[in-house]
Amino acid sequence: MQKIIDAHTHLSERQDDGLNRFARVNGLRYTLVELLDTMRKHEIVRGLLLSPPLQGGVPLPNDDVIGLCRRSGGMLSPVITVEPTAKEVKTAVKLAEENRKEVKAFKVRLGYVKAAAQSPVFNRLYDYAESRGLPVLFHTGDTAFSTGNLSLSHPLNLDGLANKREELIIILCHFGNPWFEDVAELIYKHPNVYADISGLIMDGAYAEKYAEWLAKKISEAIYFAAGAQKVMFGTDYPVTKHSETLALVNRLDVDERDKEKILRHNAERVFRL
Ligand SMILES: [Zn+2]
Repeated sequence: MQKIIDAHTHLSERQDDGLNRFARVNGLRYTLVELLDTMRKHEIVRGLLLSPPLQGGVPLPNDDVIGLCRRSGGMLSPVITVEPTAKEVKTAVKLAEENRKEVKAFKVRLGYVKAAAQSPVFNRLYDYAESRGLPVLFHTGDTAFSTGNLSLSHPLNLDGLANKREELIIILCHFGNPWFEDVAELIYKHPNVYADISGLIMDGAYAEKYAEWLAKKISEAIYFAAGAQKVMFGTDYPVTKHSETLALVNRLDVDERDKEKILRHNAERVFRL
């Protein structure tokens, strides 16, 4: 088995973590020990750690994410979540600069926060990310809570930003689910736009049919983009189990070299791991 990189995982070890309900449904303990053990079991050598939302909607503080990564013995690397106020953008950039060796990317929670991707409040963040070659992950598509704003999380919101900032490395989380075709066009059109396949698998009456549908949609997006060089493996643990997301990659009707790109090489290149 080859070594794998998980480009999208969460953890807090807090009672008020908004993702605890997904952990319960999936039968996960959702602890650092469990996460690292599961990663080792599946030969996942690195994971990018993102803030989960806490009850009340705010994300886990970035300092806590950095702290958890330090306890991981090099297996987890922090992604700094950036909320849309001038103060929080400034603080996030400062934190990234102070922890330059560790921080691998930023995250903007489109659909959960009121600002759009092109809001001027993020200019300072994008300037910094471009100057350091650090990717910015954007939540796209379906929101985990019914109060999310889909018009702000729709993946086509990133087209204008990618036009304006050709150097900015943009990663669309969750493949814009359910707007897979829009994401196929974005990753095909823009040299620096990528997508991850995290958090897509769900249980339900048609779980098996749905997993089939997902694999078909993602495979077709890869055909459209003429290869998988822009697609990355991510779990969104605890929203999706590692084994389930790996099974999704297995189901893709693409060649083995493309699967290797998805599981490791693309993330290695883009996050400079
Ligand atoms: Zn996530």
